[in-house]
Amino acid sequence: MINSSLKQLGQQLASKQVSSVELTQAYLQRMAKLNPSINAYVTIDEQKTLAQAQAADARIAAGTAGPLTGIPIAQKDIFCAQGWRTTCSSKMLENFIAPYDAHVISQFDAAGAVNLGKTNMDEFAMGSSNETSYFGGVKNPWDFDRVPGGSSGGSAAAVAARLCAAATGTDTGGSIRQPASLCGFTGLKPTYGLVSRYGMIAFASSLDQAGPMAKSAEDCALMLNVMAGFDERDSTSVQREQEDYTRGLSAMQGTQPLKGLRIGLPKEYFAEGLNADVAKVIETAIAEYKKLGAEIVEISLPNNNLSIPVYYVLAPAEASSNLSRYDGVRYGHRAAEYNDLLDMYMKSRAEGFGAEVKRRILIGTYVLSAGYYDAYYLKAQQIRRLIAQDFVEAFKQCDVIMGPAAPSAAFKAGEKTSDPVAMYLEDLYTIAVNLAGLPGMSIPAGFTTSSEGKALPVGLQIIGNYFDEARMLNVGHAYQQVTDWHTRMPAGLENI
Ligand code: GLN
Repeated sequence: MINSSLKQLGQQLASKQVSSVELTQAYLQRMAKLNPSINAYVTIDEQKTLAQAQAADARIAAGTAGPLTGIPIAQKDIFCAQGWRTTCSSKMLENFIAPYDAHVISQFDAAGAVNLGKTNMDEFAMGSSNETSYFGGVKNPWDFDRVPGGSSGGSAAAVAARLCAAATGTDTGGSIRQPASLCGFTGLKPTYGLVSRYGMIAFASSLDQAGPMAKSAEDCALMLNVMAGFDERDSTSVQREQEDYTRGLSAMQGTQPLKGLRIGLPKEYFAEGLNADVAKVIETAIAEYKKLGAEIVEISLPNNNLSIPVYYVLAPAEASSNLSRYDGVRYGHRAAEYNDLLDMYMKSRAEGFGAEVKRRILIGTYVLSAGYYDAYYLKAQQIRRLIAQDFVEAFKQCDVIMGPAAPSAAFKAGEKTSDPVAMYLEDLYTIAVNLAGLPGMSIPAGFTTSSEGKALPVGLQIIGNYFDEARMLNVGHAYQQVTDWHTRMPAGLENI
């Protein structure tokens, strides 16, 4: 059961082979056994979860169930969920109980899905290894000595260790795709504006986007059907007709289902910085795509090397503004002792935020200061436009772009914590996609072997044009019809 697809689970629920309560209990039991070591969830509330499962069973009995009714989903702890502790893995929000639901949460509620719990993450989604979390790191289920990636590391480990049927994540610079690559599952960052950010705790608002993290492209399509849609409470939510992202999946069979598809390979993605074993896995996956009928075109994204420096001006700038709301007055951590108002602000923030968050606030405040605004912030905005323009040119020659999602397989815990720049380089292939507002996904494409002989997953990134998620999901699904990487599970976790 734990390896079933969302569609299979839906069928089992509909035919009453299993009830939502039974399914939910099975996951809760697995979580009770594995979460103490993996640390994927920061908040579990069995009563609340089982009440939702009971409601789902009633809905199934009444014949009003949808495709995700009764299915247990893990929610990244960046989404406000009414009555649930919502921490963003920060001491600042350690005891914050959300008074309302994020759009994403209410969409899952309306679909009748079951909230299994809130997952661990890098503090305020700043990081690539989940090690900046106030609640401690998360183990990569493929090798407990390694990180799951970040910032959606808890959701990633939960999907990989089958501690949920699927999960949500957010991706500001790579936080869905990089952990999907490091933990071996399918993760999709939608086009900016497709999924409402209402109630999703803000990091860098012009980049943040929520998306599905699941075993397969088909599962992601079902999740996106629930998550996407216009919401007037988010001013950047895009008003467009609702799509069915599963349409077209069934046509991805037979010989050469991708005949005529043009795949662009950016030469900059296969240059310095890419681990040789990862490169081999990606090349093999591309060869498989040729067999499926696709055509390969070499393309160039000449400004890709500027995406990390640009991001580390813009994202901290936006973060410094977004995080100014945590002042100890309205909600969040407040220092126990202080002399006056200013001292209260300073002590509350000094105590409430971790080191990486402080680093970002300092950088952001600096680049936005009167004397440096033009030199850094404005300049970065101009280069952001050039980076986006690179993709516009590229998509004249191809339908999707492919390459690695991360430069290497999962690295050891502690390996990059003392070198922020090494950590920032994890997003070499993902950040430009956020800067351009494009959709990107990572699908399992094979494994490398660690020096200790452990199999470590590698993800293939698929980048699409604006609002081309349905095509990307088809492209992912076609590959998953002829490969079984996405069904593999970490050794030792199958029969727990
Ligand atoms: N690793 C990047 C950062 O630390 C991206 C994080 C994210 O996508 N939330 O900012």
